[in-house]
Amino acid sequence: MTAAALGKVLGGIPGLSITLIESEAIGTVGVGEATIPRIHAFNAMLGLDENAFVRETCATYKLGIEFVDWLRPGHRYVHPFGRYGLDMMGIEFHHFWLKAQEAGESEPLDSFSIAAMAGKAGKFARPRPDQPNSPLSKLAYAFQFDASRYAHFLRGYAEKLGVRRIEGRIVDVVQDGESGFVDAVRLENGETVAGELFVDCSGFRSLLLGQTLGVPFTDWTKWLPCDRAIAVPCELGGDHEPLTRSTARPAGWQWRIPLQHRIGNGHVYSSAHMDDGEAEDLLLANLDAAPIAEPIRLRFTAGYRTRAWEKNVVALGLAAGFLEPLESTAIHLVQVGIARLLTLFPTTAFTPNEIARYNLEHENEYRDIRDFLVLHYLATERDDTEFWRYCRNLEPPPAVAEKIAMFESSGRVFRENNELFTETSWLSVMAGQGITAGGYHPMTDTLGLDETRKRLAHIRQVVSAAVTQMPTQEEFLTVNGGAIR
Ligand SMILES: Cc1cc2nc3c(=O)[nH]c(=O)nc-3n(C[C@H](O)[C@H](O)[C@H](O)COP(=O)(O)OP(=O)(O)OC[C@H]3O[C@@H](n4cnc5c(N)ncnc54)[C@H](O)[C@@H]3O)c2cc1C
Repeated sequence: MTAAALGKVLGGIPGLSITLIESEAIGTVGVGEATIPRIHAFNAMLGLDENAFVRETCATYKLGIEFVDWLRPGHRYVHPFGRYGLDMMGIEFHHFWLKAQEAGESEPLDSFSIAAMAGKAGKFARPRPDQPNSPLSKLAYAFQFDASRYAHFLRGYAEKLGVRRIEGRIVDVVQDGESGFVDAVRLENGETVAGELFVDCSGFRSLLLGQTLGVPFTDWTKWLPCDRAIAVPCELGGDHEPLTRSTARPAGWQWRIPLQHRIGNGHVYSSAHMDDGEAEDLLLANLDAAPIAEPIRLRFTAGYRTRAWEKNVVALGLAAGFLEPLESTAIHLVQVGIARLLTLFPTTAFTPNEIARYNLEHENEYRDIRDFLVLHYLATERDDTEFWRYCRNLEPPPAVAEKIAMFESSGRVFRENNELFTETSWLSVMAGQGITAGGYHPMTDTLGLDETRKRLAHIRQVVSAAVTQMPTQEEFLTVNGGAIR
């Protein structure tokens, strides 16, 4: 992603050359398949044709995440992309929903989201901004794809733009004796590659930023205790909904990401609460079809490198930090890191202001996403295992506590600065995880209860009618040339 984007945006600068060093012997982490709608901005910046990209990466569409058994066993809700219902009289839709709930209505929020309803029905269509009165006008979507194919696709793209790719293993890093800046990296075959700016995309190793420059890692295990994952793909089976599914397990959760040619599965768990053998058995016992590869085991720590930019090294991806894939944010973090690097692209003077700004935004992004992830664990009725008892009794990070308190007192949801997850996302997970709003906006009372009920029923009906008219995801892929066969 980095080589492709830098090649595209900076490739024309006279005298500038970009070298990508990768080692097939080391390989990539090999998982990471679900994205969020912001990926459109990245693909559009590269000028990718969406149908070709979908075909090349065996992608499916994603309208949100379905959370199963998170509140309590047997319960499910969708965190959809896009918005719920329709704001009325300048008041956010959910206040009317809360008012109806207080009066005894039980219709879940899902019924008012076209993404949630279409997702559950296995339907998909692109947004129709030309139909402003239809809920389709505001549909938002992302992709689920084979990350290795995406990387391969972008490698070819970068090479066409003149990026030089070297296959080889970095075994040594040469630093300037005085400044500590990285001057060059040395490869196993003896070749030395010098540079002025180094982008560390070496994964969990964090070869330049962590190992060479010693930038410390801030550990968030106390808030996000999961520290292991086992991933295994299986044959296609079960439903074909354009949704990522996350099912709570006794010491963590399991993902299910259906692609066109297989389903990606993984079990994320806390090693303090479950051993690896049990975790693997549980994963293999809960697949939709036969596994098609050996399970791979991964270890990680939730947290981030305190500074992602140090001297002349900028780390992106796993080299800069890790937050579990509960809300599919890692590829997004790579993408925003690239965008920020391009915005603050340095001269060889490496002015501290640019570096400080980069690091401040890096920290804010990781912290905001961490807070949203913690909400999923904290707000649960589950107390059936030691893990869930630990999670539900966590002391929330201050911003989470404030958001919950606000919702509990008045049903209001607010978004902090530029944080990635919007009010709709916070609402979705707070309501989905069973947090009860203690009130609603008083202005909704200008609309009587009967009229409120009537309008909610109408919105539900419009959503449902729009879903009926949408094609299934398979039909959509075939008609638009995204299908792989
Ligand atoms: C369990 C799990 C599930 C995930 N699920 C999702 C998801 O659903 N959605 C999402 O957005 N993200 C997800 N991610 C994150 C996603 O996988 C990563 O963000 C993405 O793969 C990018 O990884 P990376 O390039 O930083 O590191 P890697 O994939 O590890 O790549 C590191 C690269 O550095 C090279 N390298 C390392 N050391 C050397 C060396 N010494 N010499 C030469 N080359 C070297 C390797 O060859 C490789 O090419 C998940 C991650 C994990 C662990």
